Amino acid sequence: MKLEQNYMELKFKALSINEGFARTVVSSFLLQLNPSLEELNDVKTAVSEAVTNCVVHAYPKAKGDIIMKCKIVNDTIDIEIRDEGIGIADIEKAKEPFYTTKPEQERSGMGFTVMESFMDIVDVCPNGDKGLCVKMRKKIAQVKKAVVGE
Ligand code: ATP
Ligand code: MG
Repeated sequence: MKLEQNYMELKFKALSINEGFARTVVSSFLLQLNPSLEELNDVKTAVSEAVTNCVVHAYPKAKGDIIMKCKIVNDTIDIEIRDEGIGIADIEKAKEPFYTTKPEQERSGMGFTVMESFMDIVDVCPNGDKGLCVKMRKKIAQVKKAVVGE
């Protein structure tokens, strides 16, 4: 099978106004795989959670950058969202459902759980020695385009 590849990379400031921007960019990049509406929404939701985490948790003082990379290989999209913020001391604990360090902000601690339920693979690791890196993968079933006259 011929390997079809495409990729993009985006750097933006960790501001909440950019959450919708990141979601829109990912969904328009994903359109080339003809995802179903459900798959599109799954990916957008997972990206939203990862980007929101960078906005809310990564930079308690001066807001830094978020770097988002997407790669398509055949029918699969890999998404990487990284920040250079405070990082997480205990990643396994942070991934548990209902674990949050910001209950006073009415956070439910479900971000990582949501990412895991909507994507095939989610890998959370330190971003080198500064910040966090979330890698996610999803295979897209590829809805067949209706061909006129078929
Ligand atoms: P919710 O996503 O439901 O609003 P939440 O953000 O607290 O709540 P998760 O997204 O599951 O829940 O994250 C769990 C915890 O992991 C956070 O409370 C925070 O302490 C930590 N965390 C998540 N992402 C980052 C990040 N990019 N940088 C630093 N800490 C993070
Ligand atoms: Mg969250």
